[in-house]
Amino acid sequence: MNAKFIIDATDFAAALLFILGLKRMSSPVTARSGIVIAGWGVLVATLASFLYVFGIAPAAQPHLGVNLGLGIAALAIGCGWAWWSGQRVAMTAMPQMVALYNGMGGGAAACIAAVELFSGEAHAASRLVITLLGALIGAVSLSGSLIAWAKLDGKINKTLHVAGQQAINTAVLAATVAVGVYIIVATGGESSAALTGVFFVGALAFGVLMTLPIGGADMPVVISLYNAFTGLAVGLEGYVLQKPVLMIAGVVVGAAGTLLTLVMARAMNRSVSNVLFSRFGVAEVGGGGEIKGSMKPVEASDAAVAMRYARKVLIIPGYGLAVAQAQYKLYEFVKLLQAAGVEVKFAVHPVAGRMPGHMDVLLAEAGVPYDMMHELEEVNEEFQNADVALVIGANDVVNPAARTDKSSPIYGMPILNADQAQQVYVIKRGQGKGYSGVENELFFADNTNMVYGDAQQVLTKFIAAVKELG
Ligand code: NDP
Repeated sequence: MNAKFIIDATDFAAALLFILGLKRMSSPVTARSGIVIAGWGVLVATLASFLYVFGIAPAAQPHLGVNLGLGIAALAIGCGWAWWSGQRVAMTAMPQMVALYNGMGGGAAACIAAVELFSGEAHAASRLVITLLGALIGAVSLSGSLIAWAKLDGKINKTLHVAGQQAINTAVLAATVAVGVYIIVATGGESSAALTGVFFVGALAFGVLMTLPIGGADMPVVISLYNAFTGLAVGLEGYVLQKPVLMIAGVVVGAAGTLLTLVMARAMNRSVSNVLFSRFGVAEVGGGGEIKGSMKPVEASDAAVAMRYARKVLIIPGYGLAVAQAQYKLYEFVKLLQAAGVEVKFAVHPVAGRMPGHMDVLLAEAGVPYDMMHELEEVNEEFQNADVALVIGANDVVNPAARTDKSSPIYGMPILNADQAQQVYVIKRGQGKGYSGVENELFFADNTNMVYGDAQQVLTKFIAAVKELG
């Protein structure tokens, strides 16, 4: 068995693990094992890279020992930091973490390209085109993801937008591409480090400029788009290095990121360009018509007792449930209802929360069985037969204005038909609006009562009230 065969076989095994892992991530039932399998894929791919560079087929390297030391140090720092931060991250901070890791993927692809380009060696035009394309996309993904991370983490609270922003962005992109074309056509790759530097600065600046004007709440969609960018950049640089495992990993990530972006945009009834260029989710962008009526508060114990004696209760979890970390209390309450013979189902909107699958993950964390979680299309007809719709920290995903009010920014978004239940209880802290910044007429409806308070505290009261009934 020669060295090349071992490396190729290891690469092949890693690629299979990536594909299998991704396939299993498509259902909440198998997602956990999918992540573990893909993780093994990364480990095998890393091993294959080590074998290739330092091991059984070392390229002619004058500083093999030093490079090996640097490689191991980089791995130790990266793994150590990822392990530490992965253990500590809160569920609600997951989008930030994804943004950061995604940016690093883009940055890694850009670094591979930088090594090629800063070497100043002549290359075939086709190889240069692919290297520069990967460099551009990777660098945009790096700087854009970092801005997205800063916005999600509250490090940048403003959406920085200047007049003629899109013209400026287009000019920066055009100038960067022009430098790239010059490197290919005029220098054949033997360009000066300064010129290559200008190309990278332009690409990084474009990522920053493109992301700064977008509202913080739209960042999950943007991150998903940058995720697709990272995949593409990695795939292109895989081609440059002639590493099939990188190409496969890049294509898998790129395709998954693209589909996810489209799914999220569709679930919000918006186009990707609308997300990128309309500045939706920016505080000053609002809308929606005037609402008549008043919000009617009710005691937590009264709501709990009504649910205890209901026949069917549909629960709509939203972003506030994640903020309050009330998933455990919620499931405890649900089990009490079930023990009393109440039929309970969870109605999960595809964009409830702040990242795809946010509610599924949250509920699964508390041990809610998957067969209790129902998607919008599956459960929406059932609201008309439900005695109670319990809305917990959700707002936009149950706003009837999405059906009727053409002036509303959420017009056209499919919503859960909570308003069709006989009685609606809404748990929220006060008069806070949802992510879209518009008022919700459901809260003013005749059949709706508000149970004010932090979701965790309200659910604790629900549990106490039902237990008191014996
Ligand atoms: P919303 O953001 O519309 O509403 C959340 C509500 O939770 C608020 O009205 C808030 O009211 C309440 N809340 C906050 N904290 C608490 C708490 N501790 N206890 C109780 N209530 C609380 O959430 P939805 O899930 O309904 O909708 C998600 C929105 O995010 C949609 O507009 C969607 O398009 C958007 N989005 C989703 C993405 C995804 O991938 N899931 C990605 C990008 C955007 P109050 O302050 O009064 O308590």
